Amino acid sequence: MQLHTEPTKGNLAIVGLGPGDLDYLTPRALKVIADADYVIGNSAYLDPLEALLKGKKVIRSSMGKEVERAKQAIDLARAFSVAIVSGGDAGIYGMASIVLEVLEHSGENINVEVIPGITAANAAASRIGSPLSGDFAVISLSDLLTPLEIIEQRLDAVFSVGIPVVLYNPKSRGRPHNFSLALEHARRHLGPDTPLAIIRNALRKNEEVFITKLAEAEKFANEVDMHTTVIVGGKESRIWRMGKDVRGIITPRGYHHKYVY
Ligand code: SAH
Repeated sequence: MQLHTEPTKGNLAIVGLGPGDLDYLTPRALKVIADADYVIGNSAYLDPLEALLKGKKVIRSSMGKEVERAKQAIDLARAFSVAIVSGGDAGIYGMASIVLEVLEHSGENINVEVIPGITAANAAASRIGSPLSGDFAVISLSDLLTPLEIIEQRLDAVFSVGIPVVLYNPKSRGRPHNFSLALEHARRHLGPDTPLAIIRNALRKNEEVFITKLAEAEKFANEVDMHTTVIVGGKESRIWRMGKDVRGIITPRGYHHKYVY
């Protein structure tokens, strides 16, 4: 077995693009895309980058073709600068792991950098105040790569400890019932007044925010789709009001135990 190979000429950047609006792309991501010979990604993520892609070779892929895309990126990165882009953070339900696994199996010494991006949990939370403040959990309701019974076990575990829970992939045409199923698990452990927010297209065009409570969340089921993140508050979370207006959700970090303010 060859333990050390010479690095190849090219390089590979696995780039998190953030929620979509270019204002939320990091300067490092911008630089790496500007320096790339090839930019590879799902069309939905490449379209907002159009202005940055002039003069580059652009490879558009589609959902479900992630393994092919990863292999292609690695093939090209032997000789070229390649940026493979992924929405939000590439390491959170994104392309980073599959690219790194394919690279690991190849045993090749390709320079690789993972560039972090603002993930949906951050983007969604920022639109409703400070719902995540301390410990929180993130669960994806997609059963494409994880069996539903495992997802249900995880939901029970995280709701049982009363911390806020962020739900990614809450619903899609193929999985219309997973959101309701998650609410059922939440209701086993949390009271009816637990705040809950539905944030669609956070920090990008057509953003919509709905704030409600666990007992009434089902009424908003039609607002939940694959462009939506759901935040279920924890035992300490409360709705933040200004007069009669609902402004968001606050989960106190615990300063009130130590200070008067
Ligand atoms: N890597 C991405 C997540 C991909 S999984 C990230 O770090 O954000 C896809 C899921 O992410 C969607 O179904 C939705 O639940 C969530 N999501 C991604 N972008 C979003 C946005 N701008 N607003 C709300 N939810 C978003």
